[in-house]
Amino acid sequence: MSMIALSPEELTKLIADLNRLARNIWWTWNQGAQEIFHELSPRCWQNLYHNAVAVLREVSDYELRVRLQDEEFARRVRQVLQDFDAYLADKETWGRQHAPALSQHPVAYFSAEFGFHETLPIAAGGLGILAGDHAKSASDLDIGFIGISLFYREGYFQQQINQDNWQTEYYTLLNPDNLPLEPVLDARGQPLVCVVEIELTDVYFQVWRVNVGRAVVYLLDSNRPENPQHHRDLTRRVYGGDNTMRIMQEVLLGVGGVRLLRALGVQPSVFHMNEGHAAFLTLELVREKLAAGRPFADAVAKTREQCIFTTHTPVEAGHDRFNQDLMGYALRKLMGQLKISLETLMGLGRVNPADDAESFCMTVLGLKLSRAANGVSELHGRVSRQMWHALWPDKPVDQVPIGHITNGIHLTGWMKGPVRKFWQRKLSGAGGLPDPLASDSTSFWKPGHNISLEREFNSTGFWQKVADPEFLSDEELWALRYKLRRELIEFARRRLEQHVSQPDFIAFDQLLQPDALTIGFARRFATYKRAPLIFDQFDNIVKLIRDRRQPVQFIFAGKAHPRDDDGKRYIQRIIHLSKFSDLKGHLVFIENYDIHVARQMASGCDVWLNNPRRPLEASGTSGQKAGCHGCLNLSIMDGWWREGFDGTNGFAIGTDNHPDSIEEQDRLDSANLFKALTEEVIPAFYNRDDRGIPRQWLQLIRRAMVTLVPQYNTWRMVQEYTRKYYLPPQTGK
Ligand SMILES: *Cc1c(COP(=O)(O)O)cnc(C)c1O
Repeated sequence: MSMIALSPEELTKLIADLNRLARNIWWTWNQGAQEIFHELSPRCWQNLYHNAVAVLREVSDYELRVRLQDEEFARRVRQVLQDFDAYLADKETWGRQHAPALSQHPVAYFSAEFGFHETLPIAAGGLGILAGDHAKSASDLDIGFIGISLFYREGYFQQQINQDNWQTEYYTLLNPDNLPLEPVLDARGQPLVCVVEIELTDVYFQVWRVNVGRAVVYLLDSNRPENPQHHRDLTRRVYGGDNTMRIMQEVLLGVGGVRLLRALGVQPSVFHMNEGHAAFLTLELVREKLAAGRPFADAVAKTREQCIFTTHTPVEAGHDRFNQDLMGYALRKLMGQLKISLETLMGLGRVNPADDAESFCMTVLGLKLSRAANGVSELHGRVSRQMWHALWPDKPVDQVPIGHITNGIHLTGWMKGPVRKFWQRKLSGAGGLPDPLASDSTSFWKPGHNISLEREFNSTGFWQKVADPEFLSDEELWALRYKLRRELIEFARRRLEQHVSQPDFIAFDQLLQPDALTIGFARRFATYKRAPLIFDQFDNIVKLIRDRRQPVQFIFAGKAHPRDDDGKRYIQRIIHLSKFSDLKGHLVFIENYDIHVARQMASGCDVWLNNPRRPLEASGTSGQKAGCHGCLNLSIMDGWWREGFDGTNGFAIGTDNHPDSIEEQDRLDSANLFKALTEEVIPAFYNRDDRGIPRQWLQLIRRAMVTLVPQYNTWRMVQEYTRKYYLPPQTGK
C-alpha cells in the first residue's frame, strides 16, 4: 500500500464531502459511490442494508482518516466526488435546453409514497416506486422538480411468514439521523415548523429533505411535541389506520405541502398530483386565492390552471372516498377558511354535486381541479376515460380529457451493479467510453464521465449496438445470464436459510437449480394480480418441473395489504406448495419483497411472469426492470406490455382482448399461460445448438433490449410529462 500524506485539512474536506455524498441519494444510482461505502465496511453495508449514511456513522472519524491514507482508495473517493460535483454542476442538460422555465418555477410533485431505495422504506408498491424513479430522472434531465410526501417513521410494514405460512406484519422505527435525510431548518437554524388545520386543531409539522441528485423531495413529519399523540401518529405508517387516519394524512400531505412550499418561498409553475391522495392540495390553492380577494368560482378556475393529475388504477378500492360526516369532521376548520359550505365542498368531490348519497372521491376532486389529466398506459387511458365519463357527460367518451403517458423505470437505478459494469466494459472495449473500473484508469477519468454513461444507457443507439453480435457475442450474453441467475439463486437460498420461521429444512444445494429455466413473479399480492394463477394447472406444472431435460422452477415474492386476507391466502397457498407439494425445491417464496429483492429477481430470472386480470394492471413497471438484464417478459396483454410487445421481444399470454366474465377470463388466461409456457417459452429456452448456446432465446433478449429498454424508462416518461403537461400551456404544444 503506497502512502501519500494527505494534509489534515485535505482529510477534513474529503470526509465532509463523503458525508455530503451519503446524504444525496445520487449514490443509489452510482456504482462507484456504492463501492466506496461497501468497501469502508462490507459487513455493515450488508447488515445495514446498503445504507451509506449508516456505514459512515459506523466508521469513526479516526478510521476514516487512516483509511484515506490509502492512496488508491483516496483516489477513487476523489473520483466519485468529482463525478458527483460534475453531475450537480452540469449545464448542458436536457432540462436547460427544453424546459428552462421550470428551473425558476419548478414542478411540485405530490405523492403519498416515494420508493427511492431499500434503506428508506416509505413506499407500499408501484405507485411509490414510480414517484421515486420520476424524481431521479427529473434530476438527471435537470428539470426543476420538488417532491412532497410524508416521513413515515415506521415506514411500510415488514413481512414475516409465521408457522402457519400466514403473513404477519411488523414495523421498524426509522431513525432520520441514520438515513439519507436532512432536517429543514429555519433562518435561526431551528427545525422549520409549519401548521395545517385538521379537525378543529392546528397540527404542527417539521420537514425532512431527501436530496435526489439535483432534485429535492420534502417529507412532512407531524411527530412534534406540540401535537397530541393521535396527530403525531399521522406520519407513523404508510397508509396506516382507518379512513379517519387516511383523510387526515391526506390533508397534511396536500394542504401541508403547499404551506411548506410557500414557507420556502417556492412558486411552482405546476402542481402534479400523483394519484388522488394528494388532491387536497387544490383546496389550499383555492384558499390562497380567496384570501387574496378572488371570488370562489374564479379561485377554482385559476387553481385548475395550475394543476395536473395522474390516475394510477382502474381498481375501485384504489380511489379514496370519504363520507360527508368524515369530511365535515376532518376539514372543519379549513372549511371555515375556505368560506364554503360543506355542501359546496362535497360537490367538488362528487360526479354529481347535488347527489347527497355520493361520497367525496379524491380522484374526482383531482380531475375536476386540473387542467390536464392522464392514465399510465394507452389502455389505462382508455379505461379511465370510460370510468370517468360521467364527469364530462356532454363529450363522447373518446373525448374525455384524460390522456396517457406510459410509465417507465429509472434505468441506472434499477440496473444491477455487475450488469452496469458489464455494459461499461463492453462500451470501453468497443471504442466507446473508457472503463473507469479498469485498474489503469486514472488518466481518462474526467469529471462528467458518469453523465455521458447515463446518457448512453438511456439512448436507443447503445441498445442497438448491443443487438449486434459483433459488439456482444452470444457466448458473452449467455455467460452474463448464467452469472445473474446464479446470483439470484444464491440470494434466494441465503434468504431462505435466514428465515427461521420456515423450519422445513431443505439442503442448500437442493433448493433451485442453477441450470433451470427460472420464472419469477414478484409484486403486491393484490388479488387482481392473481399470483397463484399458474398453479391452477397444478398437475401440468408438476410434469414440467419433473422434466429432467428441460426443468422449470419458480421464485415468488410479494406482500399482501395487512387487511387483505384473500391476498394473504394466496401467499399461504404458494408457500404451502413450496414446502409440501411435488414442487418442493423447485418453487420458493422469498419473504419481505422490497426494492432490493425486486432488483435481484428482475435481473436473475429468465422470465418475468405477469398475469393480472385485464385491464386492471394500469401499467405495471416490474417487467420493465427485467429488460436491461436480459430477462424476458411473459405477460397478459395489459398495461405497458401490450404496447411494448411486438412479437419478437418476449411472450404474450392471450390476445389484446378479454372476456367480460371474470370466471371465463381466469380460465382462459390460465390455459393461455400454460400454452405460451409449453409451446413458446420452454422450447426457445432449451433449443441449444451444438455448442450449448440457446441462439433463439438470446435473439429474443437482444430484441427486448433494443425495443423495450430505451422506451420504457423514466427519462422518456419525464420528457413526455414535461412536453405535454409541465410546460405552460402556451409553450407546451
Ligand atoms: C417495481 C416494483 C413494484 C411495481 O411492480 P408492478 O409491476 O407494478 O407490480 C412494486 N414493488 C416493488 C418493491 C417494486 O420494486
